[in-house]
Amino acid sequence: MIPAEIMEQFKPGLVTSLSPLVRRITAPNASPMTGPGTNTYLIGHQEVAVIDPGMDDPEHIQTVAEACGGNLKWILVTHTHPDHSPGSQSLQALTGAPIYAHRVELQTVRDENFRCDYFLDEGDHIDCDEFTLTCLHTPGHALNHLCYFLEEEKLLLAGDMVMDGATVVIMPPDGGMTDYLTQIKRLKDMNIEALAPAHGRIMRPPKTILQEILDHRQVRENMVLDALKRINQPTTIPDIVEIVYQDVPKHLHKMAGNTVYAILLKLKDDNTVSGEEKEGIWTLIH
Ligand SMILES: [Zn+2]
Repeated sequence: MIPAEIMEQFKPGLVTSLSPLVRRITAPNASPMTGPGTNTYLIGHQEVAVIDPGMDDPEHIQTVAEACGGNLKWILVTHTHPDHSPGSQSLQALTGAPIYAHRVELQTVRDENFRCDYFLDEGDHIDCDEFTLTCLHTPGHALNHLCYFLEEEKLLLAGDMVMDGATVVIMPPDGGMTDYLTQIKRLKDMNIEALAPAHGRIMRPPKTILQEILDHRQVRENMVLDALKRINQPTTIPDIVEIVYQDVPKHLHKMAGNTVYAILLKLKDDNTVSGEEKEGIWTLIH
């Protein structure tokens, strides 16, 4: 949880300068799922890139457009979830700037009205005199998820790959645990000085934070494996949830079932379990 006095820094309408090149404006969508709200990041001054306009809130989009001072050149989206991309079109209408995103996987897109002018992919650069942003394709939370690495400050605009004070939701088929862990390991191996998440504060040191994520996921995976061993016969996700999440209130068990499903698909990739459907039967391979 983020302390109340820190929540003040995320008041909608506030333009917060975080570093020489980076400013943050938080959208008014604070909730248990989105923390203090979605962070819209502004990179640069003479020429500006906006990362994640957030949801389509007129006041928020107006604040972002004004803070760009007529210099907005790139509207960049980390992924097309409803709290990240829907404001793109309104920001474009106000500023005329083109929209960039990873090629949208149509079968999983969550923001159905999303349109972009240019596609970005792994290794692409957004370049100007002031800064370079390098694109990293980081599936795991969403198939079309991009992180943007600000070379001058070694700052990773991390979207929903990490969350301040919360665990990232991995919901198949848009999300995938095998991909997510692969990408977290890759980010851990990079020379990054800080992580700027879409929800919450700047996070550092990255290597420690990313290792903690790997450790936490490993603990959960081990719990699912232990439950499978205890049940000791082909079983269902609700039966696994019953054991792994016995301390968690019943009304959260459906959510937990999504996480267990993501873990089972990862264990299937590892050839440790067999199974197919979320509602189907899962078997530990001895
Ligand atoms: Zn998301």
